[in-house]
Amino acid sequence: MSLLIVGTVAFDGLETPFGVREKILGGSALYGSLSAALYTDDVQLVSVVGGDFLASDIQLMADKGINVDGLEVIADQKTFFWKGKYHTDMNSRDTIETQLNVLENFVPKVPESAKSCDIVLLCNLVPAIQMMALKAMNKPSLVVLDTMNLWIDNTLEDLLAILREVDVLTINDEEARLLSGEHNLVKAAEGIKAMGPSVLIIKKGEHGALLFGPEGRIFFAPALPLADVVDPTGAGDCFAGGFVGHLAQTNDFSFDNMKRALMEAATMGSIAVEAFGPERIFEVTHEEVRARRALFTDLAQVN
Ligand code: AMP
Repeated sequence: MSLLIVGTVAFDGLETPFGVREKILGGSALYGSLSAALYTDDVQLVSVVGGDFLASDIQLMADKGINVDGLEVIADQKTFFWKGKYHTDMNSRDTIETQLNVLENFVPKVPESAKSCDIVLLCNLVPAIQMMALKAMNKPSLVVLDTMNLWIDNTLEDLLAILREVDVLTINDEEARLLSGEHNLVKAAEGIKAMGPSVLIIKKGEHGALLFGPEGRIFFAPALPLADVVDPTGAGDCFAGGFVGHLAQTNDFSFDNMKRALMEAATMGSIAVEAFGPERIFEVTHEEVRARRALFTDLAQVN
Protein backbone atom coordinates (compact mmCIF):
# COMPACT_ATOMS: atom_id res chain seq x y z
CA MET A 1 0.00 0.00 0.00
CA SER A 2 1.17 3.52 -0.70
CA LEU A 3 1.89 5.91 2.15
CA LEU A 4 2.05 9.71 2.28
CA ILE A 5 3.80 11.45 5.17
CA VAL A 6 3.18 15.14 5.81
CA GLY A 7 4.97 17.19 8.48
CA THR A 8 8.07 19.23 9.19
CA VAL A 9 11.60 18.82 7.88
CA ALA A 10 13.74 20.90 10.17
CA PHE A 11 17.00 21.93 11.67
CA ASP A 12 17.00 21.19 15.38
CA GLY A 13 19.16 22.40 18.25
CA LEU A 14 19.22 19.75 20.99
CA GLU A 15 20.43 19.64 24.56
CA THR A 16 20.21 16.47 26.66
CA PRO A 17 22.20 15.33 29.71
CA PHE A 18 24.42 13.48 27.19
CA GLY A 19 25.44 16.49 25.13
CA VAL A 20 24.54 19.34 22.86
CA ARG A 21 23.98 19.61 19.10
CA GLU A 22 23.69 23.15 17.71
CA LYS A 23 22.11 22.28 14.38
CA ILE A 24 21.20 18.82 13.13
CA LEU A 25 18.55 17.40 10.83
CA GLY A 26 15.12 16.91 12.34
CA GLY A 27 11.42 17.48 11.83
CA SER A 28 8.37 15.33 12.40
CA ALA A 29 8.10 14.16 8.77
CA LEU A 30 11.81 13.43 8.47
CA TYR A 31 11.65 11.06 11.45
CA GLY A 32 8.27 9.62 10.43
CA SER A 33 9.28 8.88 6.84
CA LEU A 34 12.69 7.41 7.73
CA SER A 35 10.97 5.06 10.17
CA ALA A 36 8.15 4.04 7.78
CA ALA A 37 10.62 3.46 4.93
CA LEU A 38 12.12 0.61 6.96
CA TYR A 39 8.80 -1.22 6.46
CA THR A 40 7.54 -0.31 3.01
CA ASP A 41 8.95 0.88 -0.33
CA ASP A 42 6.17 3.27 -1.30
CA VAL A 43 6.69 6.28 0.99
CA GLN A 44 6.12 9.82 -0.28
CA LEU A 45 6.93 12.97 1.67
CA VAL A 46 5.21 16.37 1.64
CA SER A 47 7.04 19.13 3.47
CA VAL A 48 9.03 22.33 2.94
CA VAL A 49 12.60 23.49 3.55
CA GLY A 50 14.55 26.68 2.86
CA GLY A 51 17.52 27.48 0.64
CA ASP A 52 19.82 26.72 3.60
CA PHE A 53 18.90 23.02 3.43
CA LEU A 54 21.57 21.00 1.62
CA ALA A 55 20.68 19.05 -1.52
CA SER A 56 22.91 16.29 -0.13
CA ASP A 57 20.61 16.03 2.95
CA ILE A 58 17.57 15.66 0.68
CA GLN A 59 19.54 12.97 -1.15
CA LEU A 60 20.15 11.18 2.17
CA MET A 61 16.37 10.78 2.53
CA ALA A 62 15.96 9.72 -1.09
CA ASP A 63 18.70 7.13 -0.57
CA LYS A 64 16.55 5.59 2.16
CA GLY A 65 13.79 5.01 -0.40
CA ILE A 66 11.65 8.08 0.39
CA ASN A 67 10.06 9.80 -2.62
CA VAL A 68 10.95 13.47 -2.02
CA ASP A 69 9.09 14.98 -5.00
CA GLY A 70 6.70 16.66 -2.54
CA LEU A 71 9.51 18.33 -0.56
CA GLU A 72 9.30 21.97 -1.62
CA VAL A 73 12.45 24.10 -1.45
CA ILE A 74 11.88 27.85 -0.98
CA ALA A 75 15.29 29.21 -1.94
CA ASP A 76 15.05 32.68 -0.41
CA GLN A 77 13.79 31.55 3.02
CA LYS A 78 15.18 29.57 5.94
CA THR A 79 14.27 26.07 7.10
CA PHE A 80 12.01 25.60 10.16
CA PHE A 81 14.20 25.61 13.30
CA TRP A 82 13.33 24.10 16.67
CA LYS A 83 15.48 24.01 19.80
CA GLY A 84 14.68 21.79 22.76
CA LYS A 85 16.27 21.01 26.11
CA TYR A 86 15.60 17.80 28.06
CA HIS A 87 15.53 17.54 31.82
CA THR A 88 17.60 14.95 33.69
CA ASP A 89 14.80 12.35 33.68
CA MET A 90 14.52 12.70 29.85
CA ASN A 91 10.73 12.51 30.12
CA SER A 92 10.09 16.22 29.97
CA ARG A 93 11.55 18.87 27.73
CA ASP A 94 11.32 22.61 27.21
CA THR A 95 11.05 24.24 23.84
CA ILE A 96 13.76 26.92 23.91
CA GLU A 97 13.16 28.37 20.47
CA THR A 98 10.88 27.89 17.46
CA GLN A 99 11.55 29.76 14.20
CA LEU A 100 8.73 29.00 11.76
CA ASN A 101 10.58 30.47 8.74
CA VAL A 102 9.31 28.55 5.64
CA LEU A 103 6.35 27.21 7.64
CA GLU A 104 4.93 30.70 8.17
CA ASN A 105 2.95 30.78 4.92
CA PHE A 106 3.28 27.15 3.91
CA VAL A 107 0.63 25.71 1.60
CA PRO A 108 1.42 22.01 1.18
CA LYS A 109 1.74 20.89 -2.41
CA VAL A 110 0.71 17.27 -2.76
CA PRO A 111 2.12 15.84 -6.03
CA GLU A 112 -0.36 14.09 -8.35
CA SER A 113 1.32 10.76 -7.61
CA ALA A 114 0.71 11.20 -3.86
CA LYS A 115 -2.94 12.26 -4.03
CA SER A 116 -4.21 8.71 -4.26
CA CYS A 117 -1.99 7.24 -1.51
CA ASP A 118 -3.90 4.65 0.57
CA ILE A 119 -2.62 5.83 3.94
CA VAL A 120 -1.68 9.33 5.09
CA LEU A 121 0.29 10.09 8.24
CA LEU A 122 -0.18 13.72 9.24
CA CYS A 123 2.81 14.23 11.53
CA ASN A 124 2.97 17.03 14.06
CA LEU A 125 2.31 20.28 12.22
CA VAL A 126 -0.03 23.30 12.31
CA PRO A 127 -3.52 21.65 12.19
CA ALA A 128 -4.74 24.02 9.42
CA ILE A 129 -1.80 22.88 7.24
CA GLN A 130 -2.55 19.23 8.05
CA MET A 131 -6.12 19.92 6.87
CA MET A 132 -4.95 21.53 3.59
CA ALA A 133 -2.82 18.47 2.81
CA LEU A 134 -5.66 16.09 3.60
CA LYS A 135 -8.13 18.06 1.47
CA ALA A 136 -5.71 17.86 -1.47
CA MET A 137 -5.92 14.05 -1.39
CA ASN A 138 -8.45 11.70 -2.98
CA LYS A 139 -9.97 10.25 0.19
CA PRO A 140 -7.24 7.97 1.60
CA SER A 141 -8.39 4.69 3.17
CA LEU A 142 -6.70 5.49 6.49
CA VAL A 143 -5.84 8.87 8.05
CA VAL A 144 -3.43 8.84 11.00
CA LEU A 145 -2.69 12.06 12.88
CA ASP A 146 -0.09 13.11 15.43
CA THR A 147 -0.32 16.38 17.33
CA MET A 148 1.05 18.17 20.40
CA ASN A 149 0.05 20.34 23.36
CA LEU A 150 0.93 23.54 21.45
CA TRP A 151 -2.03 23.02 19.07
CA ILE A 152 -4.39 21.96 21.87
CA ASP A 153 -3.52 25.22 23.66
CA ASN A 154 -3.36 27.60 20.69
CA THR A 155 -5.45 26.33 17.75
CA LEU A 156 -8.05 24.06 19.34
CA GLU A 157 -10.81 24.80 16.79
CA ASP A 158 -8.55 23.83 13.86
CA LEU A 159 -7.42 20.72 15.73
CA LEU A 160 -11.03 19.67 16.46
CA ALA A 161 -11.86 20.19 12.76
CA ILE A 162 -9.12 17.83 11.57
CA LEU A 163 -9.90 15.30 14.32
CA ARG A 164 -13.33 14.83 12.72
CA GLU A 165 -11.54 13.57 9.56
CA VAL A 166 -9.11 11.22 11.33
CA ASP A 167 -9.22 7.42 11.78
CA VAL A 168 -6.28 7.03 14.19
CA LEU A 169 -4.86 9.66 16.57
CA THR A 170 -1.53 9.27 18.36
CA ILE A 171 -1.05 11.49 21.39
CA ASN A 172 0.84 11.30 24.68
CA ASP A 173 -0.82 10.84 28.05
CA GLU A 174 -0.52 14.47 29.19
CA GLU A 175 -1.90 15.70 25.85
CA ALA A 176 -4.79 13.22 26.09
CA ARG A 177 -5.66 14.63 29.52
CA LEU A 178 -5.37 18.21 28.24
CA LEU A 179 -7.52 17.54 25.16
CA SER A 180 -10.25 15.59 26.97
CA GLY A 181 -10.28 17.31 30.35
CA GLU A 182 -10.24 13.83 31.94
CA HIS A 183 -7.42 12.58 34.16
CA ASN A 184 -8.32 8.89 33.85
CA LEU A 185 -6.93 7.64 30.52
CA VAL A 186 -9.81 5.25 29.78
CA LYS A 187 -12.27 8.12 30.17
CA ALA A 188 -9.94 10.44 28.25
CA ALA A 189 -9.85 7.92 25.39
CA GLU A 190 -13.65 7.73 25.29
CA GLY A 191 -13.88 11.52 25.19
CA ILE A 192 -11.31 11.86 22.41
CA LYS A 193 -12.90 9.09 20.31
CA ALA A 194 -16.15 11.07 20.45
CA MET A 195 -14.24 13.89 18.70
CA GLY A 196 -13.66 11.75 15.58
CA PRO A 197 -10.94 9.07 15.62
CA SER A 198 -12.21 5.50 15.87
CA VAL A 199 -8.79 4.36 17.12
CA LEU A 200 -6.66 6.18 19.65
CA ILE A 201 -3.07 5.52 20.70
CA ILE A 202 -1.96 7.04 23.99
CA LYS A 203 1.83 7.04 24.39
CA LYS A 204 3.17 6.83 27.94
CA GLY A 205 6.89 7.25 27.22
CA GLU A 206 9.00 4.73 29.12
CA HIS A 207 5.75 3.10 30.36
CA GLY A 208 4.60 1.90 26.94
CA ALA A 209 1.54 2.73 24.85
CA LEU A 210 -2.18 1.96 24.91
CA LEU A 211 -4.26 1.24 21.80
CA PHE A 212 -7.98 1.96 22.17
CA GLY A 213 -10.01 0.34 19.39
CA PRO A 214 -13.66 -0.16 18.51
CA GLU A 215 -16.14 -1.69 20.99
CA GLY A 216 -14.02 -0.84 24.03
CA ARG A 217 -11.11 -3.05 22.94
CA ILE A 218 -7.77 -2.10 24.52
CA PHE A 219 -4.26 -3.36 23.85
CA PHE A 220 -0.98 -2.49 25.57
CA ALA A 221 2.53 -2.43 24.12
CA PRO A 222 5.41 -2.10 26.59
CA ALA A 223 8.41 0.15 26.18
CA LEU A 224 11.76 -1.61 26.22
CA PRO A 225 13.76 -0.81 29.37
CA LEU A 226 16.95 0.76 27.93
CA ALA A 227 20.15 1.47 29.82
CA ASP A 228 21.16 4.37 27.58
CA VAL A 229 18.58 6.84 26.38
CA VAL A 230 20.67 9.47 24.61
CA ASP A 231 18.03 11.73 23.02
CA PRO A 232 14.23 11.19 22.88
CA THR A 233 13.73 13.69 20.03
CA GLY A 234 11.71 12.16 17.22
CA ALA A 235 10.73 9.06 19.18
CA GLY A 236 7.02 9.88 18.78
CA ASP A 237 7.41 10.42 15.05
CA CYS A 238 9.41 7.22 14.58
CA PHE A 239 6.73 5.45 16.61
CA ALA A 240 4.02 6.76 14.26
CA GLY A 241 6.16 5.87 11.22
CA GLY A 242 6.55 2.29 12.41
CA PHE A 243 2.80 2.04 12.99
CA VAL A 244 1.78 3.20 9.50
CA GLY A 245 4.75 1.45 7.89
CA HIS A 246 3.54 -1.89 9.21
CA LEU A 247 -0.06 -1.22 8.10
CA ALA A 248 1.12 -0.23 4.61
CA GLN A 249 3.32 -3.32 4.39
CA THR A 250 0.53 -5.69 5.46
CA ASN A 251 -2.50 -4.04 3.83
CA ASP A 252 -4.72 -4.83 6.81
CA PHE A 253 -6.44 -2.27 9.05
CA SER A 254 -8.06 -4.77 11.45
CA PHE A 255 -7.67 -4.20 15.20
CA ASP A 256 -5.56 -7.36 15.48
CA ASN A 257 -3.16 -6.03 12.87
CA MET A 258 -3.09 -2.65 14.59
CA LYS A 259 -1.86 -4.51 17.69
CA ARG A 260 1.09 -5.80 15.63
CA ALA A 261 1.59 -2.28 14.23
CA LEU A 262 1.74 -0.94 17.80
CA MET A 263 4.57 -3.37 18.61
CA GLU A 264 6.47 -2.16 15.52
CA ALA A 265 5.80 1.43 16.61
CA ALA A 266 7.25 0.70 20.05
CA THR A 267 10.23 -0.98 18.38
CA MET A 268 11.00 2.10 16.27
CA GLY A 269 10.55 4.46 19.22
CA SER A 270 13.08 2.43 21.22
CA ILE A 271 15.63 2.63 18.41
CA ALA A 272 15.19 6.37 17.83
CA VAL A 273 16.26 7.32 21.37
CA GLU A 274 19.62 5.54 21.21
CA ALA A 275 21.53 8.37 19.52
CA PHE A 276 21.23 12.10 18.89
CA GLY A 277 18.58 13.31 16.48
CA PRO A 278 18.00 10.97 13.52
CA GLU A 279 21.54 9.48 13.67
CA ARG A 280 20.38 6.01 14.74
CA ILE A 281 17.35 5.88 12.49
CA PHE A 282 19.49 6.76 9.45
CA GLU A 283 21.89 3.85 10.01
CA VAL A 284 19.72 1.11 11.52
CA THR A 285 19.40 -2.05 9.40
CA HIS A 286 16.34 -4.23 8.78
CA GLU A 287 18.07 -7.01 10.72
CA GLU A 288 18.53 -4.75 13.75
CA VAL A 289 14.86 -3.74 13.59
CA ARG A 290 13.81 -7.41 13.51
CA ALA A 291 16.13 -8.24 16.41
CA ARG A 292 14.76 -5.34 18.46
CA ARG A 293 11.19 -6.39 17.71
CA ALA A 294 12.01 -9.89 19.02
CA LEU A 295 13.14 -8.38 22.33
CA PHE A 296 9.63 -6.94 22.75
CA THR A 297 8.11 -10.39 22.38
CA ASP A 298 10.53 -11.79 24.98
CA LEU A 299 9.72 -8.89 27.31
CA ALA A 300 5.99 -9.52 27.54
CA GLN A 301 5.40 -13.20 26.73
CA VAL A 302 5.15 -16.10 29.17
CA ASN A 303 4.71 -19.79 28.36
P1 AMP B 1 9.03 14.45 18.83
O1 AMP B 1 10.23 14.34 19.72
O2 AMP B 1 8.52 13.12 18.34
O3 AMP B 1 7.97 15.32 19.41
O4 AMP B 1 9.52 15.19 17.49
C1 AMP B 1 10.50 16.19 17.51
C2 AMP B 1 10.58 16.86 16.15
O5 AMP B 1 9.42 17.65 15.95
C3 AMP B 1 11.78 17.78 16.04
O6 AMP B 1 12.69 17.27 15.08
C4 AMP B 1 11.24 19.14 15.65
O7 AMP B 1 11.88 19.69 14.53
C5 AMP B 1 9.77 18.88 15.35
N1 AMP B 1 8.92 19.91 15.95
C6 AMP B 1 9.12 20.57 17.13
N2 AMP B 1 8.15 21.47 17.34
C7 AMP B 1 7.30 21.38 16.28
C8 AMP B 1 6.10 22.05 15.91
N3 AMP B 1 5.58 23.01 16.65
N4 AMP B 1 5.50 21.67 14.76
C9 AMP B 1 6.03 20.69 14.00
N5 AMP B 1 7.16 20.04 14.26
C10 AMP B 1 7.80 20.37 15.39
